[in-house]
Amino acid sequence: MRFLRMLLSANVVVLILLMALQSLSVAAQMRRNGPGPGIPGHPGDPRTEAFIRKALQEQREQDLVKRAQLVVAGPHVDIFQDGLVVDPQFLAVTEDAYGKLEELTGRKFDTAVLGPRVRVFVSTQIGISHVWRGYEHPKDPKGIVFLNPRVYAGAMAGTDATFIHEMAYLIMWKFYSHTLREGIANYLAQRIRPGAGSGANPAGYDWSIKVPKAMTSYLGTTKEAPRMMTAEPESRGVYYYASYRFVKYLVDTAGMEVFMKLYESRKPEDEFPKLYGATRKEMIAAAGM
Ligand SMILES: [Zn+2]
Repeated sequence: MRFLRMLLSANVVVLILLMALQSLSVAAQMRRNGPGPGIPGHPGDPRTEAFIRKALQEQREQDLVKRAQLVVAGPHVDIFQDGLVVDPQFLAVTEDAYGKLEELTGRKFDTAVLGPRVRVFVSTQIGISHVWRGYEHPKDPKGIVFLNPRVYAGAMAGTDATFIHEMAYLIMWKFYSHTLREGIANYLAQRIRPGAGSGANPAGYDWSIKVPKAMTSYLGTTKEAPRMMTAEPESRGVYYYASYRFVKYLVDTAGMEVFMKLYESRKPEDEFPKLYGATRKEMIAAAGM
């Protein structure tokens, strides 16, 4: 029993992962030296490497949550700092966003699931700002937001709304469509801070952007975010812009409550005729894409 507990302890898990990572680089070296494809599920397989990278990132974030210092606690939000000094005034900014997100969506933060308080961590160790576990947040929903120092500085200066984009993920944590999720996060960020940049559109929106047809086939569906569209910064910007533009059109057309029905549906692509009286494709065309 004790042995089992020891095996499961976090330190041992990290050690095993580090060993696996080491064997990966050895395997990569072997591949460079000799021909032959990588074997799926084995060291050298990109899926295995991605899995280990993710596990290590999770461990790093768990450590960050443990070591970060509490700056200030408000009625709903706690602010933490790690590697820099965060102005306690940031609390008022996030509390304001908390209230407005509830007001705009007509939804309450689900404290029974997310925990009693929203915890915002500003850390020099964060590259891209995100919620706890990123895209996989619904598998382990917690009220945790990680922000990098640039996003925090922009939040304080009033020029960036990424912190609202990330907080929106918490209030609408259960999602089925990636484009509806990105779109509503940016829509809410724009409603609360008009004109501010957020997420993959740090300089706001260029409405003259032409959205490729191939990209519109993802809007409002449960299709997985295409790597080719999200990995590269330029097409990523277009993909997020298209998601925002579509969601804005939907909310402007029939209001937030109808949009929430679409968002909370497991198969949103089938709900358009019932909720909007038009197909998904027709709605995309009506939105000018
Ligand atoms: Zn996002």
